[in-house]
Formats: sequence, C-alpha cells, structure tokens
Amino acid sequence: MISTGARSDAVQAKGAVDVLIIGAGVNGAGLFRDLSEQGVDCLIVDKADFGSGASAAPSRLIHGGLKYLETGEFRLVAQSTLERNLLLKNAPHLVHPLPTIIPIFSWTRGVSAAVRTFLGSKTAPRRRGALLIKAGLQIYDYYGARQRVMPRHAMVSRARALEDIPQLTRGIVAIGTYYDAKVSMPERFVYELVADGLAANPRSAAANYAQLRSHQAGVLAFADTAGRIFVVRPRIVVNAAGPWIDQVNTALGHSTRMIGGTKGSHLLLKHDELVRSLAGRMIYFEADDGRICLVYDYLGLALVGSTDIPADDPDHVRCEDDETSYLLNSMSSLLPGFRFDRSQIVYAYSGIRPLPASDASVPGLISRDHSSPTLEPDGARPFPIVALVGGKWTTFRGFAEEVADALLRRLGRSRKVSTQNLAIGGGRGFPDGAAARDRWLAEGVAATGIDRDRLAALLGCYGTTALPMARHIAAFPGERPLRHAQAHSWGEIDYIARREQVERLNDIVMRRTSLAITGTLALSDLEDIAGIAADALGWSEERRRDEIGAAVAELSEKHCYRFA
Ligand SMILES: Cc1cc2nc3c(=O)[nH]c(=O)nc-3n(C[C@H](O)[C@H](O)[C@H](O)COP(=O)(O)OP(=O)(O)OC[C@H]3O[C@@H](n4cnc5c(N)ncnc54)[C@H](O)[C@@H]3O)c2cc1C
Repeated sequence: MISTGARSDAVQAKGAVDVLIIGAGVNGAGLFRDLSEQGVDCLIVDKADFGSGASAAPSRLIHGGLKYLETGEFRLVAQSTLERNLLLKNAPHLVHPLPTIIPIFSWTRGVSAAVRTFLGSKTAPRRRGALLIKAGLQIYDYYGARQRVMPRHAMVSRARALEDIPQLTRGIVAIGTYYDAKVSMPERFVYELVADGLAANPRSAAANYAQLRSHQAGVLAFADTAGRIFVVRPRIVVNAAGPWIDQVNTALGHSTRMIGGTKGSHLLLKHDELVRSLAGRMIYFEADDGRICLVYDYLGLALVGSTDIPADDPDHVRCEDDETSYLLNSMSSLLPGFRFDRSQIVYAYSGIRPLPASDASVPGLISRDHSSPTLEPDGARPFPIVALVGGKWTTFRGFAEEVADALLRRLGRSRKVSTQNLAIGGGRGFPDGAAARDRWLAEGVAATGIDRDRLAALLGCYGTTALPMARHIAAFPGERPLRHAQAHSWGEIDYIARREQVERLNDIVMRRTSLAITGTLALSDLEDIAGIAADALGWSEERRRDEIGAAVAELSEKHCYRFA
C-alpha cells in the first residue's frame, strides 16, 4: 500500500493516462480494479471520498433481483444471481448469505397485472399473490443455479409462519422463503476495490477529494484537498459519477439527460426484540401502497428501507420526516405485535438511485438494467466519454467487465486476467470453513502475538487485512480500546489513518469502519479518533477541531445521529 504522501505525488505526476475515471463509487472503482488488472494505466478521481455517493446508500443487498422479474428483465436476473454467487465466494469477509421471508397476502392477485407489464405496459399497479410469488421464486432458483452456494426457495403455511414470528400481521395467507445476500460494509468495499487496483498496477493512481476545475483541449485540471492543481491528458474518460453523470457531462461541455434518479431512504433501528425474532433473516414485503420494503438484521440493528421518490439533487439528500413516518408505519402494519417509534432510530441515510432516464409512471417500473452510452470525440474534445449508467451494487463486476472489454478494444489491447474468480480486498486468502479459520487464527497469533479473540474480531471486520493490521496494532505504543466503542482500538484506527487513503475524519468513522452506522461512536471516541488521525496525518490543532465539527454536523444533520 502506498503512503498518502507518495500517493499524492503519484497523482500529481500522472499527466498522460490511458483511462481517467471520474467517480469512485462501486462502478468506477470496479472498473478501475478491472482495468488496472489488465495493465491499463488508470487514474480514478472522486470529488468526495471513495464510496460516499449512491454506493453508500443502498439497501445493502447483494441480490439476484427478484423484483426485476416484474419488469421482464430476465438477462439482468441471470447476471445478478451469478454475480451474487460470485461475490459470496470472492468477498466472503463482507458479503454474507441472507435468508429471506416474503409475506404473501392473497393467492391470486397480481397475475394479470404481471402479464400486462410483461407485455410491455409501463403503468401496471401491483399486488403480488402466492401464485405469482411462487412462479417468481421458481424462475429465481432457475437463474440462481450457476455457481449456486445457497438453498432453493420454499413455501410455508400461515400457521407455521405465525408460530415462528407471532408479531407478524394476521393478514398473510402464507410466506415464501428464499436466499439472497447482504454486504456488511459497502463503503469499505469500494475502498478495497480501489486499493486492489492500485496494488495490481503501480502506474495507476487514485485521488479522493479531487475537484474538476477545468477542461480545455483534451487536458483536465483537478484540485486536491491542499488546493494543489494537477492536470491529466486522458485517452478515454469514463464518467462514473452515478447520479451526478449529467452534471459531469455538462462540466465536460455536453448537456445530457442520461439519469432519471429516484431517492431512497433507510433507517437503522435499535430494536432488540425484532432483531431476535428476525434471527438473521430479512422480511421482504409489500407495504400498504404495494411498494417493496424490507427489514433485516444489519450488524445487530434493524435496517428498514426504502422509499422511492423521483429526485435529482444528489448533493442534498437526507431522510425527510414524511419518509421516516412512511417507513415506521410500514413496519407497524407488517409487525403489529411490535412497537415502532422515532426514539428507536440510531442512524438514517439517503441516496439517489442513478437509474436511466425513463418515462415510466411508477418509479418501481423504471428499468434496473445498466448501459454505457458513449459521447465520441469531437473537434474540441479528443477523447470519448463513456458513461456508466444504471449499474447496481450487485452487478458491478459484470458491468465493469463488459465496459473494460470495450475499452480494451478501443486501446487495441486484450484481457489478461478474468475477475470472475478474483478475490476482493480482505477476501484474499480468506479461510474457508471452521478448521481453516482456526488454523489461520493460530498462525496469526503466532506471527503477531495478538490475542486470538481480538484477531478473530478483526478478521470478521476486515477479512485477511486483519493480519497486517494486527502486526501494526502489536507494535503500536499506547494500544487500547476506544473509550465507548470498545470493539475498536487505537492501533486499529492508526493503521486505517496511515494506510487507507484517509483525508477526512468521517472517512474513518463512516467508510473504513462501521463505527457511525452502528451507533457505537461516542463524542469522546470521535475526539480520540481525530487525535489519532491528527498524529498520523500531521493535522494541526485547528484542523483537528474543524474535522470534529464537520463530522458532528454531517452525522447529526444528515444521519439523525445522536452522540452518547
Ligand atoms: C436507496 C437505494 C437502495 C439501493 N439498494 C441496492 C441494493 O440493495 N442492491 C444493489 O445492488 N443496488 C442497490 N442500489 C443501487 C446502487 O447502490 C447504485 O446503483 C450504485 O451504488 C451506483 O454506483 P455508482 O458507482 O454508479 O454511483 P455512486 O456510488 O454515486 O458514485 C459516483 C461517484 O461520483 C462522484 N462524483 C460526482 N461528481 C463528481 C465530479 N464532478 N468529479 C469527481 N467525482 C464526482 C461522487 O462523489 C460519487 O462518489 C440502491 C441505491 C439506492 C440509492
């Protein structure tokens, strides 16, 4: 891993580059990793932190796209189920199976509406009965057969379902069960993709917090956090700015309407009784208005989502009051045996789905498929601009592969490495099964002298990055747990600050760790973490205070965070 100083110098020195990727969400970062693996020199830049846009706001599902069956997008279901199965193998430290329950409220509803949609209607309202869900789950199993790692679906009677979760609404006629997957730290995952790209090609570089300042005659100028300007002369530009794609095209001189985003918000609730009765499962359900919502155990909290509202200002999204009411009311209707109120909210987040611009009247019916529309070079601009439109979290690898292959053809090069079975970040060398895990831990304890339980906890969070981190922790003077969030320690934070391209305090607490989203971060911890980062990164006392102020403001204003 290169140090922050060396990395800045590498970015400053880039100049000519094969591919410049603007936007380091999961799609930009996935493409950066793939191209770097092929030996292509890439620069990836983001105006904020890696993985801080839409990629930090999903339902955190790595899913085969059961609901894409409704829009007849079978190709996407085939791709999504395959990618889900691959991610369970390639990133086992961050992607985990998610047993799922679908409550069913009638036997036959929705069949004729589904047929209409299947025949091309873009307006059908929907309710989904048992027949439709059963058919959907069967198709889902069929598509999920490639690289299958999880069980098939089942249908369960009303009586058994209510015995299992007595708090569930009595309105159900049955439930369906099947498996999907979840990603525990999507923000960190994006950083790991960037780090993998840097490791694969020493001539590639990555810059977070880089602002596009100008574009003239094929040369783009960016400013880094210190205000230093660096210029880049790319052969190809990839616009991977997600919901900001049209803004970036405009900055490059082209007015486009590629994105027709919809806003979605999520809540994290401290609700121990609910989490206990979920027992690791998700309930994927129809809210009273027919929208699909979900609740599952996310790192010990109940993750509830999501809303779906047309929106186009990705810089100013937060979960609004009416969205909170909608989500809590949906939970009360689904689980009338439990109490839900605002005091249970630990964290909230919101983002814009960068969906393709569409004329569908209902957001749920906008196509979820991806594409890469290209603006070919013109007189004033010698490079093409390839936009990454509509790419989902789940399918980022397959989308990156498709686009990388097209770019390799443009560059007159060929693919050297397939990413299909390439482990990601801390998934590299991850021990598979209990015996391998015991062996890995025993060797790690012997190599680092760190306590076994501590090493196991690090492995759970960071995958095999736990090993270099444990070495760092063992040598860190003054190693101790944080005062409130005691599962994390000073040496761990110091490692992250020094080694993981941290620029701002919130990069550590929101994107390299799950400290904020799990509600475990106290103000005293934030102050200590700012002190550790200040030592590691050479921040002045004034900068340390500013960072704390900015972190508190963002967490409380945008994420409903209440510090202990
Ligand atoms: C509410 C919601 C729920 C979702 N649920 C799921 C789910 O459960 N599973 C799933 O598979 N998908 C889900 N998605 C979809 C998925 O999260 C997104 O499609 C995906 O993260 C988009 O990634 P991206 O890289 O294209 O965009 P982004 O992650 O938004 O990345 C774009 C990046 O570009 C940067 N940028 C913008 N302007 C500039 C500029 N001028 N210069 C430099 N950088 C710039 C931004 O800072 C940002 O980091 C969900 C999305 C939302 C919003």
